[in-house]
Amino acid sequence: MNRTDPPPPQHQRLPARPPRAPERAEVVCGGIAVSPGVAIGAVFGTAEPTPEIARARIQAADAPGEGARLEVAITQSRKQLLKLKARLAVLPEDSQAEIAPLIEAYLRMLGPSRLIRGARRRIAEGLQSAEAAVLREAEDIGAIIMGQAEPGASAEDQAGLRRRADEVGEIARRLIRNLTRAPFQSFAGLPEGAVLVCEALRPADAALLDPSRLAGVATEEGGADGHTAVMLRALGVPAVLGVPGLLAHARPGDVAVVDGSAGTVVLNPSPARLTAARRAVGAFTRARQRFAKLRRLAAETLDGTQVELAANLELPLELPLIQQSGAFGIGLLRTEFLFMNRETVPDEDTQTEFYRGVIEAMGGAPVTFRVLDWGGEKEIEALSAAGIVPEIADTNPALGLRGIRLLLRQPELFETQLAAILRAAVAGPARVMLPMVTNVAEVQAAREVYERVARRLRRRGERIPERLPPLGIMVETPGAALSADALALEADFLAIGTNDLTAYTLAVDRGESEVAALYDPLHPAVLRLVQFSVEAALRMHRPVSVCGEMAADPRLTSLLLGLGLRSFSMNAAAVPRVKQAVRGLRIEECVRFARRVMEQADSRAIAALVEGGR
Ligand code: PEP
Ligand code: MG
Repeated sequence: MNRTDPPPPQHQRLPARPPRAPERAEVVCGGIAVSPGVAIGAVFGTAEPTPEIARARIQAADAPGEGARLEVAITQSRKQLLKLKARLAVLPEDSQAEIAPLIEAYLRMLGPSRLIRGARRRIAEGLQSAEAAVLREAEDIGAIIMGQAEPGASAEDQAGLRRRADEVGEIARRLIRNLTRAPFQSFAGLPEGAVLVCEALRPADAALLDPSRLAGVATEEGGADGHTAVMLRALGVPAVLGVPGLLAHARPGDVAVVDGSAGTVVLNPSPARLTAARRAVGAFTRARQRFAKLRRLAAETLDGTQVELAANLELPLELPLIQQSGAFGIGLLRTEFLFMNRETVPDEDTQTEFYRGVIEAMGGAPVTFRVLDWGGEKEIEALSAAGIVPEIADTNPALGLRGIRLLLRQPELFETQLAAILRAAVAGPARVMLPMVTNVAEVQAAREVYERVARRLRRRGERIPERLPPLGIMVETPGAALSADALALEADFLAIGTNDLTAYTLAVDRGESEVAALYDPLHPAVLRLVQFSVEAALRMHRPVSVCGEMAADPRLTSLLLGLGLRSFSMNAAAVPRVKQAVRGLRIEECVRFARRVMEQADSRAIAALVEGGR
């Protein structure tokens, strides 16, 4: 046996499928509360789908490129496993002892093992695609392992060999998933009322979930304000992300209670816990009904100051929720989701139709279209397939070709989207918003493109508004915040994206569980940047809003009003909660409260003030 091949069977315990005990003990796991509400349901998932290989053969000229794809998938798989390994430390010792050797075995298989050597050879010499090479080599290794059974081998020995073969299959599936960027789970068979449990959920996969069938979500990976969390909140699905060791405990069919407010996942709950969870579900539903009554009331403080509460939209299925929420228009329409889960980039007519539909649904209230914000964790296959973005992401995607940077490099992509928005804007009030701006030149260049597109449409005889919809920017980098005054000269409005602003100010990845505790929108540095941006915008007489997740937290409404903000955009479910907060506040008290908060140098003191109320 090669030294890098899997270790002998006695070390290889597969936590994913141990024999099912008749009575499974209650397990309480903690994670990051990302989407409020309590869900009770049967665990669905934990097993990877059978890979589908779309292309098996390649041309000789493609072999080096195919080999490079395999190397990227190996590196990515190693990173994923190392992350899982690093997080074992928070688990009880017996869980660690069970899982650690398995992860080690997987990591060894990603080294110069027979699987990897064989896959490389199949690509270079056999002209197989990387996916086919991995799959076929794993199948052959599996057959050889099973062929080692001596005649008359005991059931135990046979089971040991089966486990080894399964492990090779498991690592092959991980590689293929990374090669094909396939969703971790297939949601096709998701039974009604299930709780989805998996290692990680990409934003594009979350977009495929049907909230009417799904009770809740729990994953090992993920952070509080990553786009997956944003999506789950938008869908109103109770969710806890970043739960270490979850997959080691959960078995398909286990009963799970996901408390998306407390950040806990309980597997096989005791009868008492189950009763409490059922009560919590009821209380949550009643609270939602109470909030629904606020719909027709004004978003107005006790001293009569009007506050604009708009909604964020990611998916068309949110439109009815937004209409019911009492939101005034859409303050952030994240257009990336229109580009996801499809093979080609949507053309101008397709985009126009979607944008027009949203404007019409808002019945005269404004819709702010944020142009495509590709990059960071938002992978869009259609863009890599069209060669618009690199197939292999930058080493540091959050600092790479994101948002407006990509659009200015890809004028056709940008112009098509602007043309679609302009054509749709004859149906009602619209605004155009640029993501990831860091300097004045980007806004000027974008405006040139915007005006050029308008001229071209007019020449083409298309109907577009006589006065172009306002062109504004997102303030979501410290660079933009600190030059908000200069940017406000170029932009018609500013919207503060506190999610990225927090991430870039504190150098913390939004979707990364390892550093989730450092992701802190109440850090004084973040608040000072918000304050600076608001003051700059007000001085320059530019409308300013907050559309990051901070806007959705009613505990922060007083602080944000006190800093001078009067416009907020948030997920639809949060609108009534924030409206209730607005209706109980007086501006002068908010200003005093904000002053006290801004005097603090420690975010724990700020958190205590915020928890204590104004
Ligand atoms: C933000 O960064 O705060 C924001 C609203 O944009 P997104 O969450 O889509 O990055
Ligand atoms: Mg952002």
